[in-house]
Amino acid sequence: MAVRVADGAIVEISPWQDGFSDSGSVVDLTDSTVMPGFVDAHVHLVFGNGDDHGSTRSVVENAGLDTLGEVAARHAIECLRGGVTTVRDCGDKGFVTLWLRDEVAAGRRPGPRILAAGPPITTPGGHLYWCGGAVASAAEIAVAVQRRRARGVDLIKIMASGGNMTSGSDPLTPQFTDDELRAVVGAAHAAGCQVAAHAHSTEAIRAATAAGVDTIEHCSWRAPDGTLKVAHGSVVEIVERGIHVVLTMAGIQRGLLSDGADHTDALQLVARKNSDTGNLRDDFSWARDMLAAGARLVLASDAGVRLTPFDLFRLTIRCGMEALDLTASQAIGLATLGAAEALGVETAVGSVELGKVADLVALAGVIDDSTTHLGPIRQVWQGGCLVVQDGELII
Ligand SMILES: [Zn+2]
Repeated sequence: MAVRVADGAIVEISPWQDGFSDSGSVVDLTDSTVMPGFVDAHVHLVFGNGDDHGSTRSVVENAGLDTLGEVAARHAIECLRGGVTTVRDCGDKGFVTLWLRDEVAAGRRPGPRILAAGPPITTPGGHLYWCGGAVASAAEIAVAVQRRRARGVDLIKIMASGGNMTSGSDPLTPQFTDDELRAVVGAAHAAGCQVAAHAHSTEAIRAATAAGVDTIEHCSWRAPDGTLKVAHGSVVEIVERGIHVVLTMAGIQRGLLSDGADHTDALQLVARKNSDTGNLRDDFSWARDMLAAGARLVLASDAGVRLTPFDLFRLTIRCGMEALDLTASQAIGLATLGAAEALGVETAVGSVELGKVADLVALAGVIDDSTTHLGPIRQVWQGGCLVVQDGELII
């Protein structure tokens, strides 16, 4: 096929052999597969991506906002190198990612299109409290939402349960009451803003679903004792409400990929230690059940957390293939159009369609239903401009 691009948009899609209607340069990508630019629905651009939670967190805790801005800018370039042309940042410090979003949008710095939450709303001492978003009462929650809207965030991120990166917070139990979550959703939606809820605990997933959040992040279905406990009533409600479930396939999932070609022994060791079953397919049987029940799943990376660089998004897609029993093109769909729909940007990006922004990725080789390995990345196009060639930024 031929994809014709003009003024940054896709203006024609036709069989290659039909030729080209008028002048312009022709790029022959015969030995590659062209697809939409990847949409990574869950990253943390200011996080340090260290070998462990402590080093990852210390970057955020100890660096000034100027330095964090440079960290985020560097990571934004890595996203592009990995084929990611749209990202949703699910938690920063000091609203640094809003600054970067605007720098990129103005063409002053290279990077993907950024949707940004600012500091996640959490409890005192709760998950990622060190990002500066802790609130202690219903009144403080209202102020926090208002403040974020005034700063111009694209979404509100709330920590419905504790998380693994913050010792002292409990991933296995909720951090907010049902009323508090409803208040956040009400205030955010009134302001035309989505709500993304981080939730590992089954009870927190139930509460976030009932409150009507737009996306549930991780959705790990954990009982207070740490075992897997899927609440089927909540799955039904997630499907009925059309809530998107953002599965994060970070380093500790990438480390379980069966061929192991792209990772180190150390990564595999940590991955196995954190796995229920030792393999992706069995760890995510609940996610296949949700998919079969009609839930809208999205594949995202959580890049910035330990062992999760920003330029390996294709490994997150491969995790989706293996965990969810999907073909390459099905998994790419959950990481492009599916993700764009979750973020509400599907009219602009997420597929190779007439009228959409010409954000495109060319992966080496021909991808079909028997494909098990993705990449490497040959080219990345952003708004019709070639920005990455053979994995390197060229602008
Ligand atoms: Zn995250």
